Amino acid sequence: MTGQVADLTRLGRCLGCRGKIKVASDRAFVSCPLCGLTLVNTPGIADLPAVVAPKAGQRACWEALVRQLDLPSREGATEVRASRLLLAPFWRHVDEAKRSVSRAAMVVSAADLSPVGLPRLTPERQRISGLEVEKRTRTGDAMGRIPDEGQELAGASVVQAMLGPGGPGAPAIPASVADSPTWWQLVYYPVWSFHYVVYNKEHFHVVDAVSGQPIGPARPLRIGVIASAAAGSLLAGFLLLEPVAGFAAALPALAISLAATRLAMQSQRGA
Ligand SMILES: [Zn+2]
Repeated sequence: MTGQVADLTRLGRCLGCRGKIKVASDRAFVSCPLCGLTLVNTPGIADLPAVVAPKAGQRACWEALVRQLDLPSREGATEVRASRLLLAPFWRHVDEAKRSVSRAAMVVSAADLSPVGLPRLTPERQRISGLEVEKRTRTGDAMGRIPDEGQELAGASVVQAMLGPGGPGAPAIPASVADSPTWWQLVYYPVWSFHYVVYNKEHFHVVDAVSGQPIGPARPLRIGVIASAAAGSLLAGFLLLEPVAGFAAALPALAISLAATRLAMQSQRGA
């Protein structure tokens, strides 16, 4: 190679420690040099959300699902069509004055992944069986560390934030991360998503990739569930089969809300 070497770094803000940092601009995941958390690096977005470190692998998560649902083990009865490590976005309401390892805070979903079996966390619904996102995001230490700049996340899909934090008394868009002691922190939480077939009936289910627990409610397939799975098949199909880059192109309506979220996040810099 000849000529000038391009500058492959950019400035950003770690949403784990709120430090201003310089990161490689050509990597999907980077490590914060200040707090050590692994961050999602989206081109054009200054804020870099932190990722909770996965601890349970694909095999352990699938076996937990088989056990909990008592899936039939007879030859050919149960078949996994696809599995994928998803990094799901959540908003966490942070109050720096009250931040504590023992005090729970509100966490709401930043994308609707119910078609693949991840129920939404909302201000009214903070508890979902098996999902430990609130507990694991209370502090940077609770989030854990991923070695080698997130190398083990190589095959993971980052789901873009498509929903604002909203909720009663909350701003429609996140408050400035620069100054305010209370703000909405975007965090990414790992789940294993399974698309599987039991006696020719399709199922989607996710397992918490930190605790290794299936995320409930786990129940046998019913007609209503089949209908909602079919309605969500576009999203589900994308999540299981397509790279994340194709998302906006495939789903214009969601792309619009994504664009709104991006604008909201970018506006934080000027606030
Ligand atoms: Zn940091």
